[in-house]
Amino acid sequence: MQHFTKAEIRHIEDRYEDFLKEIRNKFDDERIARIEKAFRFANAAHDGIKRKSGEPYIIHPIAVAKIVAKDIGLGATSIVSALLHDVVEDTEYRLSDIENMFGKKVATIVDGLTKLSGDFDSKQALTLRKILMTLSDDVRVILIKIADRLHNMRTLDSMLPHKKVKIAGETLFLYVPLAHRLGLYAIKSELEELSFKYKHPEEYNQINYLLHNQEETRNYLVNKFIKPIKEKLAEHNFDCEVTHRLKTSYSIWQKMQKKGVTFNEIYDILAIRIIIKAKPEISEKRQCFDVLSIVTDIYKPKPDRIRDWINLPKVNGYESLHVTVMGPEGKWVEVQIRTERMDEIANRGFAAHYRYKDISTYEKELETWLERIRDVLQNPDTDAFEFLDDFKLNLYGTEINVFTPKGDMISMPQNSTVIDFAYEIHTDLGNKCIGAKINLRLVPISHVLQSGDQIEILTSENQTPKLEWLKFTTSAKARGKIKAAFKLEKNRHIEKGRLMVEEVMKKANAPITSNNLKKLIGHFNLNNKEQLYSELGMGFIDLKNIDEILGKKSENKLVKYWNITFGNRKKGEIENDDSVQKIDNKKPFILKETQDNISYSLAKCCNPIPGEKVIGVLSSDDHVNIHKAGCKELGKYLSNHGDRIITAEWTKFKRQSYLTRIKLEGFDKLGIANQITTIISKENNINMRSLHFDAHEGIFSGELFLYIHNTDDLHNLIERLKKIKGIDNVTRVENLNE
Ligand code: MN
Repeated sequence: MQHFTKAEIRHIEDRYEDFLKEIRNKFDDERIARIEKAFRFANAAHDGIKRKSGEPYIIHPIAVAKIVAKDIGLGATSIVSALLHDVVEDTEYRLSDIENMFGKKVATIVDGLTKLSGDFDSKQALTLRKILMTLSDDVRVILIKIADRLHNMRTLDSMLPHKKVKIAGETLFLYVPLAHRLGLYAIKSELEELSFKYKHPEEYNQINYLLHNQEETRNYLVNKFIKPIKEKLAEHNFDCEVTHRLKTSYSIWQKMQKKGVTFNEIYDILAIRIIIKAKPEISEKRQCFDVLSIVTDIYKPKPDRIRDWINLPKVNGYESLHVTVMGPEGKWVEVQIRTERMDEIANRGFAAHYRYKDISTYEKELETWLERIRDVLQNPDTDAFEFLDDFKLNLYGTEINVFTPKGDMISMPQNSTVIDFAYEIHTDLGNKCIGAKINLRLVPISHVLQSGDQIEILTSENQTPKLEWLKFTTSAKARGKIKAAFKLEKNRHIEKGRLMVEEVMKKANAPITSNNLKKLIGHFNLNNKEQLYSELGMGFIDLKNIDEILGKKSENKLVKYWNITFGNRKKGEIENDDSVQKIDNKKPFILKETQDNISYSLAKCCNPIPGEKVIGVLSSDDHVNIHKAGCKELGKYLSNHGDRIITAEWTKFKRQSYLTRIKLEGFDKLGIANQITTIISKENNINMRSLHFDAHEGIFSGELFLYIHNTDDLHNLIERLKKIKGIDNVTRVENLNE
């Protein structure tokens, strides 16, 4: 083995000394000795090994330990684990060596970190799942992992170009939401900026250039804006730091994308931040509101734009008071008011709570969150990728707070519906749910909840879970419960359907051969006999013209043969067809119209309808997500996961229908609305959900929500509507929500 040169050894010792300087006064001698021991051990273990940049490897664990200590604020055990985090993975030492030298706790953390290392692929998804199962035991594993990733991102330059993009993508996909959920704002922003820089270097450079260009004017305006505030605060004896923060280039870029605006149209690049050195004798809340009143005495606040996260902190612990005021230049400016303690929580999240010893509420909330994740994990039906989707949903979703009729507050992911809430409270309540009363108003199961809603779930003994509920559930918990309940239901339907087949076949004098069953399955365009039974049991299909389907004559000849050969065969003992469509990258995935088929789902971003050109994304071995071929979301996904794309084709859809949104425009004419409704109601294949017509200064506009089976029906309808005199334009709107 090649040992390091004297200069390299010197470099290592210098970097270690720098690190030690940062932490020395925070820990007692015993802890410093443990940290020293860990460094010496790791240094010897990584001796002679270099990173891609050419630096000695040990520089990396030292840097990670520094982030763990300084930016996250964790204790000695975490620092020791950070120093050792790559030893088991990259050197000859084993976990048992670590345990012997540093104890069980450190060994467990290092083990967790070792399992989480490497590239993020499907196997990693499983590993992550395992790790998250024990997350509640030790959230430090994730925190150190985030520090590890931050340092890797800071030193990404030495990697090959395609590796850079991949690692940057992975960081945005997983580490950013994790950091967000744990409240590590500073780290989250840095990870975002670094990922942005490597994924979209041109846009990154351009936005930073523009930000730099504005700097002088901006500083002038900031000083002009804060001067009177500073004076008034001093007059009232407030000890405050008044600064400003810039939106990161990543969030500027995101906003430009989302809203389709240019750099110059983003008005909230700048925010003023007032950080109060709180006086101990007055409550922090009181002081923040006093400062708010000083600010709004000087500048007029925008109505409805005071956000109070002090009385109701965000789920990740964030507390602050935000107000938007009219500045002297006639532009809206956001002002954020908080105490030093709140500011530290805003920057360091989870770890800061320990420092201020007010962790009880926060821990309770973190526990609720972990509970929800554990629920997802314990559901045997969730596969790794689906889990990741749900998990990310739970990470990113800004949460809302809603209330039970008794006034208990419950945190739910944003966009949760009535059915999500029902399952959140109790499985039975979900299974029997028929709707709800919100603030005394009746709403359907699919109704999207708003923060502050008080919800009374309405139930009926006759209600059973419906598969279509999956379309409007947001929480992983509700989805798992519906799927589980539906399995039970499904077995009942299958049994009922099987008896129906027996009865009908007996009447028709036809034997239950696999050949006959295949005819039925083929006739209804299904996959297997299980589907045939369940569709029958649910009443979606019927066997009225059984003779026709079987082409009776030929089959009758077989009766005798069957009676002799299979006469004693027991019920249901027919050879099994493939129950799930085998997915083959080379062949198109066939989309069939079956009610109990959950092997594919239609993407909500583009709402494809049968007949349209579509593309499938394989999210696991047996689940395919169907997008429109031109879907923008899909485009984003393609760049990362091109290997999981499969072609897909529709069979003819006749029974199920899909909510479709249509916009009409034209000149207001007497009776035009009437003509439209007549045409729609005459189309016997189309049901209406809602119609909305508007006329303004002679211009007529309409919006229709209709249930459509396939593109043929849709195009027919659009053609007919276009023929109405006065109608100028008829278009389908993909997005159902805006
Ligand atoms: Mn590492």
